[in-house]
Amino acid sequence: MSAPEKSHLFYQSRQRRPVLDQAKGVYMWDVDGKRYLDGSSGAMVCNIGHSNPRVLEAMRRQMEKSTFGYRLHFETEPAEKLAAKTAGLAPEGLDKVFFVSGGSEAVESAIKLARQNAVAIGEAQRTRIISREPSYHGCTLGALALTGYAPLTAPFEPMMRPMPKIPAPRAYLDGLDPDDEATGFHYADMLEEKILNEGPETILAFIVEPVGGASTGALVPPRGYMRRIREICTRYGVLLIHDEVMSGGGRTGKFFAADHWDAEPDILVISKGFAAGYVPLGAMVAHKDIVTNVLDAGGFLHGFTYAGNPLACAAGLAVLEEIEREGLCRNAENTGALLKSELEKLMARYPIIGDVRGKGLLLAFELVEDRTDMRPLPKELNAYNQLVDIAYDNGLIIYSRRTRGGYRGDHFLIAPPMTSTPDHVAEIIEGLDLSLRQFLDRMSQ
Ligand code: PMP
Repeated sequence: MSAPEKSHLFYQSRQRRPVLDQAKGVYMWDVDGKRYLDGSSGAMVCNIGHSNPRVLEAMRRQMEKSTFGYRLHFETEPAEKLAAKTAGLAPEGLDKVFFVSGGSEAVESAIKLARQNAVAIGEAQRTRIISREPSYHGCTLGALALTGYAPLTAPFEPMMRPMPKIPAPRAYLDGLDPDDEATGFHYADMLEEKILNEGPETILAFIVEPVGGASTGALVPPRGYMRRIREICTRYGVLLIHDEVMSGGGRTGKFFAADHWDAEPDILVISKGFAAGYVPLGAMVAHKDIVTNVLDAGGFLHGFTYAGNPLACAAGLAVLEEIEREGLCRNAENTGALLKSELEKLMARYPIIGDVRGKGLLLAFELVEDRTDMRPLPKELNAYNQLVDIAYDNGLIIYSRRTRGGYRGDHFLIAPPMTSTPDHVAEIIEGLDLSLRQFLDRMSQ
């Protein structure tokens, strides 16, 4: 099939793309036979690569047994097993798992669980959730209210209640040393200040992406930040929610990114890499005490029809088993370190690259006009689309975003599947090198 003259699909105003034919491992092919290296795993989703035979086999076996069993009518073995495995990977105490079908649904679930917990423990005045600017937590109205990016949120106010925001750390722009604990404390203490200004008794939770995703472009928190935030939340009875929709699933080198800092949340949410693109699946994992409070007070008033269906859970379980069996977290760490150092070499050759950052295989680089003051490229240049399109023509898929909140510049997420090898790294760097050269040529015309 080639692209039809007129499409009835309605997404965004994005230019039309070739029609996908098939995908295997880190590669995808369009219907004309052109091959693409999936340098962003879709949108940081396809963590174990495409068409993994063991996952397909597990799905086929489950499909032959049953594809759907409504969770209030039947327990299912895949759901029980996946819940147990997920709880085993989560921090101690977080052993209750609630399945959903995507990241926004997982964030909604966390908001509603936190709220019902507050009511259950007699703290009903806690209604507001602090989040960060910039951040992305999803497109449903609750998750969007927590998203720190005004162009996405403004059209929906006052349908959606604005929530308090604090700046996400941006040590690289503020000239601070991210390895110095004082930097982490500097940004974390903004949370305490915000809680005190808003009135601690009104604050329900704080939500944070442990390693930033599309919003900050793989920004890693400065030393001390995650621990200090935990301390502050505990001090004021504010629940800490980790949004690991993008960073969870192993691509930072640990299954949950927050494990890098021993910073334990009260609730965490996961989705993209959880079933790695094989089915829509996500989960909220919550501390058992919170769940007990809510269930004892009459039950959790929440749930999505498709959530926790046996096919999705069988796929998710097979993905987790594959990550374990193949040591993919370790591979993400090692291959990520190689990819990062190669990106740094590109940075040394291209002054237009202002920063390279990230952890494991959740990496990004940022383009700037001038590296000395990190001045962004002019908006009219539309660099974030241009470079992506050029790379696309060169058979490399990358993921980009333009300036968010107080941030500057265009950033590009480089996040190939966790199965990537040094050969794939070389191919990505070659594709980026060529694409940057062509981009600069275009700019100078
Ligand atoms: N949280 C984070 C950190 C995300 O990156 C995303 C998706 N980009 C979401 C939530 C929302 O997930 P979904 O698109 O699956 O609803």
